[in-house]
Amino acid sequence: MGQVHLISHPLVQHKLTLMRQKETSTQGFRGLLREISMLLAYEVCRDLPVTMTQIETPLATMQAPLLDGKKIVFISILRAGGGILDGMLEIVPSARIGHIGLYRDPKTLGAVEYYFKVPTEMGDRDAIIVDPMLATGNSAIAAVDRLKETRPKSIKFVCLLTCPEGIKAFHSHHPDVPIYTASIDDRLNEKGYILPGLGDAGDRLFGTK
Ligand code: URA
Repeated sequence: MGQVHLISHPLVQHKLTLMRQKETSTQGFRGLLREISMLLAYEVCRDLPVTMTQIETPLATMQAPLLDGKKIVFISILRAGGGILDGMLEIVPSARIGHIGLYRDPKTLGAVEYYFKVPTEMGDRDAIIVDPMLATGNSAIAAVDRLKETRPKSIKFVCLLTCPEGIKAFHSHHPDVPIYTASIDDRLNEKGYILPGLGDAGDRLFGTK
C-alpha cells in the first residue's frame, strides 16, 4: 500500500485541536488553517530537489542550495483547498497554482468535475494536491485521475484530516501517491463526514453555514 505521513508535531496538533472545536469562529478557523498549512508545507517540501548555485555573501563566494519554486505546483481542490493553498503560498510564494473543481453528489457521494485548470508543461513539475478532508476519497481519487492525464513529474496529496476508509480507497486507486495528513480520525459517518472530524471544512472556512 501507499505511504501515509502523519505529521504529529505539537504545533500542528495544537492548532488542529483549536480548529476542531465547534466554538472556533470563521475568522479563527481561517487563520489556523493558514498557519497549519505553512507547517504542512514544511513537511511536504522536505525532499524537494535543490540546485547548487554560486552566490556572493558579503565575505565570500559559495555554492548554496536553491529551490526552483516555479517547478512546484499546488493544486487546490475547490473550494476548501483554497484555505490550505493560502498558507502554502506564504512558504513557497513562487509556486505555480492549479485548480480542480469537484463537487460531491449528495446522493451517490461520487465526485463530479466542473473545473480543471493547471499550468502548462506539467512534466517538469512536482504537483502537491491540497484539500483539507480526505473522507470517502472520491474527490481525491478523481483529482489524481485527472491530474495524471497531464503527466506531472511527481504527485503528493496533502490534507488536514483523513480516516481509514479514505486512505484505503485512495491508495487502492493511487498507491504511488503519498498522503500527508495531521490526523487519521476514527471513521466516516453515513453522510461521508469524518468522525470526530471538524465538520464541513468549506462551511467553516467561508462561514457559509
Ligand atoms: N468534507 C468535509 O468538509 N468534512 C468532512 O468531514 C468530510 C468531507
